Amino acid sequence: MQTYDLIIIGAGPAGITATVYAARKKMDFLVITGDIGGQTAWSSDIENYTGYQFISGPDLVQKFEEHMRSYHTNVKEGEGVTEVEKSAGLVLVKTDKGLEYQAKSVIIASGKRSRELNVPGEKEYRNKGVSYCATCDGPIFSAKDVAIIGGGNSALDACLQLIRIARQVYIINNVPQLAGDAIMRQKVEAAANVSIFNNSKVTAVLGDKMVKAIRINQEGEEKTLSVQGVFVEIGLIPNSDFVKGVEKNAQGEIIINNRNATNIPGIFAAGDVTDVSEKQIIIAAGEGSKACLSAFRYLARH
Ligand SMILES: Cc1cc2nc3c(=O)[nH]c(=O)nc-3n(C[C@H](O)[C@H](O)[C@H](O)COP(=O)(O)OP(=O)(O)OC[C@H]3O[C@@H](n4cnc5c(N)ncnc54)[C@H](O)[C@@H]3O)c2cc1C
Repeated sequence: MQTYDLIIIGAGPAGITATVYAARKKMDFLVITGDIGGQTAWSSDIENYTGYQFISGPDLVQKFEEHMRSYHTNVKEGEGVTEVEKSAGLVLVKTDKGLEYQAKSVIIASGKRSRELNVPGEKEYRNKGVSYCATCDGPIFSAKDVAIIGGGNSALDACLQLIRIARQVYIINNVPQLAGDAIMRQKVEAAANVSIFNNSKVTAVLGDKMVKAIRINQEGEEKTLSVQGVFVEIGLIPNSDFVKGVEKNAQGEIIINNRNATNIPGIFAAGDVTDVSEKQIIIAAGEGSKACLSAFRYLARH
């Protein structure tokens, strides 16, 4: 089996930036990733990535990808890592295609995924009206009624996209008022086609082949809202389950030091999957570059 210098897992901002640095250091490396872009592709409006006063998520991902592919990069796209383990001085990586790879070092840049509601009907109607990505699936609900579950920045971002597409947008928020950035909150609250249900929980997704309604409980009172789309925006959980032996915090984030090293020599991590204090595109990108430079130094020493 070929032994790479480095395997980068994930191609969001952290993984792609690590890739650019690895290519420029002429490392012998491989990228294994579910997709290109990660969560950045889900964002409609990005106004805080230096150099762009405004850019959409998909456009920024396109720029990232062009940059990455301008070098000779070996990218296994659409392949999910199922296990990472250090053994006999090398890191072994297994994937859902039944393949195995090995390297002297690894950067885990696998980011986060959407938290699920865990209510009856959610799994049954996934991709049949239940969605976790307004940017990806929003256009399907043109002139239809949709519910957004959540009240933070992700929910507000989804709402600002959907008010331009859907007929009626319901926000189901389980606390007394919306959280998230004040500017987004004001825009959402001012929209004519938005109804906000605070102190409310979704108890079931109902349908017949496709979503038809949701049942909610607002302070003890049961209500049924007729909707064709349900967007679940209740937070994210780290994609760190597949890494063995690496220390994680209570949220499942991989614990790193200020050089992106984990407790296992040769295994580095970067971006949203780690316990880095803020989760932003520019931070993930910076962390990806740091992780690659740390891996480069590690290889020089070993
Ligand atoms: C709706 C929304 C809007 C946002 N808006 C902004 C904004 O305006 N500005 C801002 O700065 N930040 C924003 N963020 C946050 C920002 O998108 C993240 O902080 C950033 O994308 C994290 O980058 P990352 O590379 O660490 O992880 P991710 O972007 O999560 O990428 C992870 C990558 O790993 C891959 N992967 C996951 N598991 C595996 C596996 N087992 N095997 C192989 N590959 C795997 C995925 O396919 C993906 O390519 C937003 C987030 C959301 C959800």
